[in-house]
Amino acid sequence: MIITALFPGSFDPVHYGHLDIAVRASKIFDRLVVGVYAAPDKRNVTFSLEERIEMFSRAVGDYPNIEVVGYSGLTVQFAEKIGASVMIRGLRVFSDFDYEFKMALANQEIHPDIETVSLITHHRFMFLSSSTVKEIVMNHGDPRNMIPPHVLERFHAKFPG
Ligand code: ADP
Repeated sequence: MIITALFPGSFDPVHYGHLDIAVRASKIFDRLVVGVYAAPDKRNVTFSLEERIEMFSRAVGDYPNIEVVGYSGLTVQFAEKIGASVMIRGLRVFSDFDYEFKMALANQEIHPDIETVSLITHHRFMFLSSSTVKEIVMNHGDPRNMIPPHVLERFHAKFPG
């Protein structure tokens, strides 16, 4: 039986903490689908859905069992649609736990057959988030240990100068 796992998120933009979780999950499960959430309120995202999908896809091009797709609506419903029986989440700091715990319980209620599996971040990425990356790039800091070069290029193309 092929086990499909879904790794959902906004990935606005993808960074090395996300990639570490995706690659590790792809080694545990047969097929990993990265679900890029099409935020309905576009004011909250910096990059378009297409850009976020393209940046993530390019970063995982060497992993044949990882595919990157966009979705909208409830994450568990999307998981069901693509035949995923596992939902992957990354855990960074203790403060993530409360939110993730509630989300996992809510998802359990809606779809008891889909298991949430949380992977603990690599300690190097513990404080890494998309908003931290944005703040550093916008203030001309050096994010090379945080994002792949093609993501930095995308920032420069979108925000020249
Ligand atoms: P959201 O779920 O709010 O859209 P993100 O797109 O940033 O947030 O994150 C998607 C997933 O990646 C979540 O499971 C989140 O916990 C995980 N994640 C984010 N940053 C890291 C990190 N530095 N290390 C490990 N996991 C992370």
